[in-house]
Amino acid sequence: MTTPEAIESVRTTCPYCGVGCGIVASRLSNGQLEVKGDAEHPANFGRLCSKGSALAQTLSLDDRLLHPRIGGERVSWDIALNRVADEFQSAIARHGPDSVAFYVSGQLLTEDYYVANKLMKGFIGSANIDTNSRLCMASSVAGHRRAFGSDTVPGCYEDIELADVVVLVGSNLAWCHPVLYQRLEAARAERDIRVIVIDPRSTATCEIADQHLALAPGSDVALFNGLLQHIANSQHLDARYVGEHTQGFDAALVATTSLKRKDIARATGLSEVSIAEFYDLFIATEKVVTIYSQGVNQSTQGTDKVNAIINCHLATGRIGRPGMGPFSVTGQPNAMGGREVGGLANMLAAHMSLESAADRDTVQRFWQSPRIAQMAGLKAVDLFRAVAAGQIKALWIMATNPVDSMPEADVVRDALARCPFVVVSDVTDKTDTAAYAHVLLPALAWGEKSGTVTNSERRISRQRTFLTPPGDAKPDWWHMAEVGNRMGFADAFDYAGPHAIFDEYARMTAFENGGRRDLDIGAYASMTAYDYDALTPFQWPARKTAKQSQRFFADGGYFTPDRRARFIATPFAAPRTSTARYPLLMNTGRVRDQWHTMTRTAKSPRLMSHIGEPYLEIHPDDAALHGLEAAGLASVESAHGRIVLRVQVTSRQRRGSVFVPMHWTDQFANNARVNALIPAATDPVSGQPGLKQAHVNVSPFSAQWYGLTVTRNKPSIPADADYWALSPATSGWRLEMAGLQPLPDAAAVLRQISTHVDQHSGDELGYHDHAGQRHRVAVFDNCGLVGAFFSAREPVRVSRSWAAEQLAKPPIDRLSILAGRSGATQRDRGATVCACFEIGVNQIVDAIKDGCRTVATIGVELKAGTNCGSCRAEIGRLVHEHAIANTAAKAR
Ligand code: SF4
Repeated sequence: MTTPEAIESVRTTCPYCGVGCGIVASRLSNGQLEVKGDAEHPANFGRLCSKGSALAQTLSLDDRLLHPRIGGERVSWDIALNRVADEFQSAIARHGPDSVAFYVSGQLLTEDYYVANKLMKGFIGSANIDTNSRLCMASSVAGHRRAFGSDTVPGCYEDIELADVVVLVGSNLAWCHPVLYQRLEAARAERDIRVIVIDPRSTATCEIADQHLALAPGSDVALFNGLLQHIANSQHLDARYVGEHTQGFDAALVATTSLKRKDIARATGLSEVSIAEFYDLFIATEKVVTIYSQGVNQSTQGTDKVNAIINCHLATGRIGRPGMGPFSVTGQPNAMGGREVGGLANMLAAHMSLESAADRDTVQRFWQSPRIAQMAGLKAVDLFRAVAAGQIKALWIMATNPVDSMPEADVVRDALARCPFVVVSDVTDKTDTAAYAHVLLPALAWGEKSGTVTNSERRISRQRTFLTPPGDAKPDWWHMAEVGNRMGFADAFDYAGPHAIFDEYARMTAFENGGRRDLDIGAYASMTAYDYDALTPFQWPARKTAKQSQRFFADGGYFTPDRRARFIATPFAAPRTSTARYPLLMNTGRVRDQWHTMTRTAKSPRLMSHIGEPYLEIHPDDAALHGLEAAGLASVESAHGRIVLRVQVTSRQRRGSVFVPMHWTDQFANNARVNALIPAATDPVSGQPGLKQAHVNVSPFSAQWYGLTVTRNKPSIPADADYWALSPATSGWRLEMAGLQPLPDAAAVLRQISTHVDQHSGDELGYHDHAGQRHRVAVFDNCGLVGAFFSAREPVRVSRSWAAEQLAKPPIDRLSILAGRSGATQRDRGATVCACFEIGVNQIVDAIKDGCRTVATIGVELKAGTNCGSCRAEIGRLVHEHAIANTAAKAR
């Protein structure tokens, strides 16, 4: 068999996280599409994580929105756009410009973002445009602006490899920014880089940690305030840098002095010894990079956390030089691009400030706009509060899913249901938010659209088209430009294509800049469409004239009026403690193979095979205290809502805290939208909600029966299921269920689940233990298993991966299906660990038992971990756990 060849290849960028990996998408001679890491892209040098590697599996047109719709009916673009323009104009005429709003997304390309911001701030005249990046890194933006006078990320990825100590704060880099983790892991294999993980949870990232400081949630400021004191007291202050390039050190230090070392230990729950170890390592090492992410940002003290970290780097002068600096890594693929063009309600384009009359004037003159917003608009949480209060009459949501992603998500859902006019631009109508749209506008998906994104190290890369746009789908910038035209601003929104928007944006960054602003890409202004198409990744600043460095601030030059950085006093305030009613602190986060609300990653059975059901991670003592059992179901309740999740009992979880992933929506489970439980409390400076945490109670979900179904076709949800969670599998679907009432008829449930099964009722095999309430029903056709249903009084003990695999395996052993386990000749590989090579946990444990003692030897034996590398941390943990268990068993 000949290996298919690439006929045509396009260089583009991954649409998931803020690492911004380069991708080569190729059409092969066999007609298939291949996605590989771009060896020439400076963010990843050819690497991809599991999500990036599986992109080709997510490109189907299933569930795509292909035509504009009003009230569910297909309409022409003209009708849809006229309606949007009319509704917005009418609301503005009757209630003023602040009665309308845009809620946009870090998924948008910079060109889309630029047009959205221009239309709202420069032509409608309101700043009511905010972005889901508010939920992700607004505290970093606010922290940067307070300290540096601008939203500047000082360093670059290379610093992670050049550092001698890497401190990771509130960042599960292994799962959330996997390619950066891989770069760190690879550099660490070459030389001694010490890694400190500061995180309440023991995450996959801890696999490479020399020290894990499992601090109490919300105590980061206390820890870094103590570090600032230690820097000052141990003569490691860089007095020259502080004196020449900063202001406010004394006040910042005074704000820390109320906490003695024992107070810090009490606040953080860490031992004084481990705190001292960390402090001593930090001060003794010149090259320190401190990476922080959502664990820092998604907090009601997020901005203070950011500034407490930055204070320590300013005090030691460790900023802007190779191998050192504070480093915020962003969650979304274009959160940085959105920040650059003013996608936040309190920013103007090109890093200009909405508070500054001079900047407002500069922007208005550049745009030659009839007006300019005069004050900050509504930030995300306030924006949806205003929708709920009836102040927003027309809302346009683009490429985001606030019904699931906002805190107090049920309140947001109710607000949208009451909003007089909601427009949703998206690639699919199968989101919990699209259900509330009066007008749906079909957008282009990844692979169809064209533009630029900026990654966490200020690197601008192209996303390029390699797929034909389906149906009537159009780029987001075009949706807005057309509405702008219809609102009477035709000249300002007459763009020939994304290159024309980029050109305008690049010219704007250089407009009256003269080194006054950090963001300047004037060197890329006036490109032709051809140049734009050929654009290779570059980092800003890229000024047309002046010499520039890859990093900022090694020699000061901050963007404050006196060009000095500001130390910010960050007095520690202990977080609210648990109550008798809500005794546990719930922490939320991502899982390795899912992205946001799963609209794309759930299309990949490979990605769903890693974790296919929403879950609650809880410490064994807390599980016992609350009557929860492993693999059972739990109700999780806060003051704002209640969800139901599968229980995972693990001693990796801190006592008193639980963990729940953020991804599941009503599309994949009936009651698992975790943000419905999160209070809409925000950081007072950044307006970012504290999405990481809520106080909750947990209790057993008193199921009378549990069920598992695997079916070839997408199943219907049976009426008897009070709990369900759905996930695609390689050759079909998997559906988990449970009911609060006894199950009347197992075979009837299977028929309800799948109409396809009904047509094949002649091939039904069943096993019924009525006394024990155990039922197994399977239906077969000539091609093999059509569907199987397993139910029991207790959680069903059938290997999920094995059961789903049987859908793809004719001929099969029919009795083994009824038995719910592999026969003697088959091996159940267990839950997927390595998604690339579909290697399960049982296979890895067997290899460890056979003598493999390192991730590398497992790779040689099974190939696991040798492609994208995202599973290497989990393999390491399995090696660690099982090798120790084997050694202990031998010793006995
Ligand atoms: Fe995409 Fe993974 Fe790279 Fe992030 S680390 S950009 S998700 S391939």
